Amino acid sequence: MILQNKVALVTGGASGIGRATAIAFGAAGAKVVFSDIRDVEAEETAALIRETGAECWFVRSDVSSEADVQALVQKAIAIYGRLDCAFNNAGIDRVVKPLHEQSIEDFDKIMSINARGLFLCMKYEIQQMLTQGSGAIVNNSSTNGLVALPGISPYVASKHAVMGLTRSAALDYAKQGIRINAVNPGPIATDLMARSAEQMGITLDGLGAWVPMGRIGQATEIAQAVVFLCSDAASYITGQPSAIDGGYTAS
Ligand code: NAD
Repeated sequence: MILQNKVALVTGGASGIGRATAIAFGAAGAKVVFSDIRDVEAEETAALIRETGAECWFVRSDVSSEADVQALVQKAIAIYGRLDCAFNNAGIDRVVKPLHEQSIEDFDKIMSINARGLFLCMKYEIQQMLTQGSGAIVNNSSTNGLVALPGISPYVASKHAVMGLTRSAALDYAKQGIRINAVNPGPIATDLMARSAEQMGITLDGLGAWVPMGRIGQATEIAQAVVFLCSDAASYITGQPSAIDGGYTAS
């Protein structure tokens, strides 16, 4: 229960890595507030969090809307009075084409959710954490925030932007008790990765052949790292990526 009595926020908690992390926050003792734009799947997440014995609230909120993000953070504070941990996770997938065939609309959409949305979340989370003098934020980047893959330049750009925001913000608040880190998942078995694999003409399991460990990862394997980074056990870690990728970026 390394997050006992902490208040934790997760964006994009209705499925995949966000859902697994919202459940892991609950299992670690936190009170959980999570957002998404999908109500039915979010209610399923809420039921799974409550099975851990934790309290949780779902707030419908689109990370690309400043008003929604502000309302999400305000709701967490209105309910629990503080915000200790935040996992900025909501994101959308790639459109597989070389750069000159990528549309401006797809580029703007990916950046508005994966990069601008994450900026908005940090902006309002940090305002609260500054009043408390403490907090831990984890941003969901990707191995594509550390190295590129061909055919997905807008996604790669958005995930490198997440690393830039993580490192800059970590330096801005290093003396004010707020730690800000990133996780950089390799291929993880989620709806998003299943759609991406389909576009690339391979199966989810087929993606495992790209990974030194010979398999893709599970959402819970990211969730455990996020819980650690949000906990006091990670008290001297800030501004860092965490490649959780079966060795993919080791070569
Ligand atoms: P997922 O599709 O299962 O989950 C993403 C969630 O975000 C969904 O519930 C979706 O409804 C929500 N969402 C989308 N747009 C939103 C918006 N505008 N506002 C609020 N919520 C929104 O996918 P996932 O694989 O769990 O992806 C989560 C994050 O992990 C993404 O940022 C993704 O880029 C990153 N990631 C995933 C992988 C992987 O292999 N699955 C690898 C690296 C990074």
